[in-house]
Amino acid sequence: MDLRLAPFRFDVTPPIGHSLCGGWIKPAVAVDDPLEAIGFVLIGMDAPIVVASFDWCGILNSAHVELRSALAKAAGTTPDRVTVHTVHQHNAPFVCLDAHATISRYSDIPPIVDLTFWKDCLERGAATVQRAMQTSESLTHISTGQAVVERIASNRRFLNPEGKVFRWRGSSTRDASLQALPEGLIDPLLRTVVFLNGDRPLVSIHHYATHPMSYYGDGRVTADFVGLARRRREKDDPSITHLYLTGCAGNIAPGKYNEGTPQSRLDLADRLYAAIIKSEENLSPEPIKSISWKAAEFLAPPGAGVDADKLLQQIGDAHQSLPFRTRPAMQLAWLKRWEKGTPPVTVSSLSINQMRSVHLPGECFVEYQLRLAERLPKEFVLGCAYGDGGPWYIPIADCYPQGGYEVEQAFCEKIIDAKMSQAIEQVISS
Ligand SMILES: [Zn+2]
Repeated sequence: MDLRLAPFRFDVTPPIGHSLCGGWIKPAVAVDDPLEAIGFVLIGMDAPIVVASFDWCGILNSAHVELRSALAKAAGTTPDRVTVHTVHQHNAPFVCLDAHATISRYSDIPPIVDLTFWKDCLERGAATVQRAMQTSESLTHISTGQAVVERIASNRRFLNPEGKVFRWRGSSTRDASLQALPEGLIDPLLRTVVFLNGDRPLVSIHHYATHPMSYYGDGRVTADFVGLARRRREKDDPSITHLYLTGCAGNIAPGKYNEGTPQSRLDLADRLYAAIIKSEENLSPEPIKSISWKAAEFLAPPGAGVDADKLLQQIGDAHQSLPFRTRPAMQLAWLKRWEKGTPPVTVSSLSINQMRSVHLPGECFVEYQLRLAERLPKEFVLGCAYGDGGPWYIPIADCYPQGGYEVEQAFCEKIIDAKMSQAIEQVISS
């Protein structure tokens, strides 16, 4: 098998003044550390595969399609063979071109994205991919590792005896009663996949399920603790490209262990870095014997009672705060996409020897990645979420009757679980 690997990276730090988190929080006033798009092109199969991870909050709907199409064109492949994920930091861009177009009719709503910046990211991304492919290296071996992450992930949702969410723990808290609540259901493992040329590592992918915010809303652009840990590891040996993919973390955040101070950001970065080191400790590279890629598509209906007129009314209501105007614009984008029946959301799977990464949209609950591990007990599985952010939160069907923040904010009916699970089954079954 003659495989080649072309790692790439380009800067996606927004300009000062750019909206962060879609314009819901203070716009960019300073850059604490840069945002990057990091990925690789896998060459040597029928057509190249592109995997990329952006230090952004989200990329939704037509923006996600446009970006994948641009990278596909640059790599000489098709968009269904490109998967793009965001790490989901919040002091970072949150791009929905459709919602941006809707709100641009209202002078009192800040733009979601600077279109010049967006186009520049697409162009530089495409040029970077093309350049990287000219200096690709032989890919011969793969290795996997994992380590328990200490004191980062914790579940956000707590149920009362009636099975309803009655307490909710976000990314950070100083409330001792919330800190005292158990970790709840999480996936404690950080998983690492290393691609090598012989015994020389080229790319190291780290996967872990948690919201990645220590604190945000101060206008200071940052890749946050996950970005800090990733860069620190990269400094140890700059010849290796480190990529971080956020797992199914819709209901997972560091709330139990994070007081939201600058010190907590450093502490979280230290603990994640320690897990990365541990995960890479006992690698045993094996020759690549098999590789495959599969993609499937789905769409799911918006929540019952969601209609365009009502959403437009909310968007136009100047008495509402910005999140209550921009969010309906994103919801409208999903509604229109559903009504039009296109473009569908792509789910894909990359399988190399016993390693499999499954690429999912939105803010999937952690149960999706736990299900994948259970469904494929002999494989080393990464359930990667935060691809196309169009559907927003994706709870599992059982969580819908529990209510709570994520269920209230989810753009789709609970049938999204069945629809997406069907697409997942299509890509993981041989
Ligand atoms: Zn989130």
